Amino acid sequence: MKTVLSGLVAAVTALWLLALSITNFPEPSALLWIAHQQGLYLTGLLSIALMSLAMLLATRPVWLEMPLGGMDRVYRLHKWSGILAVAFAAGHWLIKQSSGMIRALIGSEGRLPKIKYERLLEVLRRLGDDMGEWALYAALAMLVITLWRRFPYHLWRHLHRIMPVLYLMLTLHAAMLAPAAYWTQPVGALLAAFLAVGVAAAFISLAGLIGRRRQVNGSIVAVSSEAGVTEITCRLDAGWKSHRPGQFAFITFDRLEGAHPFTIASADRGDRTITFFIKALGNFTSTLAQRVAVGHCVTIEGPYGRFQLGRHRPDRGQVWVAGGIGITPFLAWLESLQASPEKTREADLHYCTRNRETDPFVTRLQTLCAALPGIRLHIHSTQHGEVLTAEALKLADGRKKKADVWFCGPSGLAEALKKGLKASWRGSLRFHQEAFEMR
Ligand SMILES: Cc1cc2nc3c(=O)[nH]c(=O)nc-3n(C[C@H](O)[C@H](O)[C@H](O)COP(=O)(O)OP(=O)(O)OC[C@H]3O[C@@H](n4cnc5c(N)ncnc54)[C@H](O)[C@@H]3O)c2cc1C
Repeated sequence: MKTVLSGLVAAVTALWLLALSITNFPEPSALLWIAHQQGLYLTGLLSIALMSLAMLLATRPVWLEMPLGGMDRVYRLHKWSGILAVAFAAGHWLIKQSSGMIRALIGSEGRLPKIKYERLLEVLRRLGDDMGEWALYAALAMLVITLWRRFPYHLWRHLHRIMPVLYLMLTLHAAMLAPAAYWTQPVGALLAAFLAVGVAAAFISLAGLIGRRRQVNGSIVAVSSEAGVTEITCRLDAGWKSHRPGQFAFITFDRLEGAHPFTIASADRGDRTITFFIKALGNFTSTLAQRVAVGHCVTIEGPYGRFQLGRHRPDRGQVWVAGGIGITPFLAWLESLQASPEKTREADLHYCTRNRETDPFVTRLQTLCAALPGIRLHIHSTQHGEVLTAEALKLADGRKKKADVWFCGPSGLAEALKKGLKASWRGSLRFHQEAFEMR
């Protein structure tokens, strides 16, 4: 993620510098006014480029799953490019506001002339100027509620739908207020490419086409609840192709509520049935068990994700770690391995739970692993004082060879384990993590 963001910032800055190096400033021009104007251009370019990237990523581009490592990471990049874009837009606004201060300091002498067009273009330029300002205020408000974790997700999601409209307003601003000379230079070509991609993505979003080609309908064929976890099996229509164990899908139980992402916790059974385990974690999931029954219609969009069993490297030790509901991708892995237990490679599966006695997955895991001689199951029950630490993982994995850790669970646990393992398995650890958060 950092590489993509810093690469984009570096590329835009380099082309802006190139444009700056061939700009002829009118005489006389004051250095402070030049810095003011160029600061406006650079922050504007960076903001619209990052926002265009965020727009593209919001369309759930499956082709980016491989280079970025899965749709959860595509969303993480979407989130951070959006945050950075708004930060640069705020910088752009502050620079604009500083003109009064510069005037007070050195006067208007040497100020660079404003862009002015004729007739319709001038009307559009003014419109773009105003729209940019209003869109920025709205985007800033959106950033605040995005970072304010207590703001209810379901409200945030509806408000977030305004982003393509704000983006189109900012596009007009960028297109009308970028210097005309840019359009014959590499920086203009890059800006045009970003705007074209972003505008296309904004229309895809506004037309409700995101993920449309991956959607199929189906209905619930079995539903049950235990210890706050609802198990739901759906049979899907003929359009469903298949999924790989560990992938997830967006499931819509109720059109008004919209889609929620859940891991497909079953293997591909060949009969278009898939199973989800859904933990009561918030507004919607807490009442889900009372809302659905056998026969309830669902829409499934997917599959997505790269947390896949098939990506294991034979030359590396396998350490699988699940925390709570993060066990769902591993359930799919274990179910898919049942077909050929003799081919199963060795792996240590660590499952962290609050209480092994009341946990809804322990018996299921024991049954699945009993048929797989290569899989060593370790249950860590916090209430019995069994807390999983990086030290404990290192002890359990005595092979002293390169290791792949596959992790799905709370991000705090992931960070603690990653930090502890990196220190002693430096250079030989690959940590794969499925994030259960998109906001
Ligand atoms: C890739 C992935 C796989 C997941 N797999 C499972 C699983 O197998 N089992 C399971 O129980 N949970 C899973 N989750 C988590 C699950 O999506 C959330 O717990 C659920 O959406 C919460 O909805 P809510 O309205 O009850 O919670 P709220 O209280 O409204 O939200 C709690 C948090 O859930 C997330 N969330 C809520 N609604 C959505 C939405 N429509 N789209 C994206 N994120 C949302 C947000 O991060 C939010 O902050 C997965 C999440 C992801 C991203």
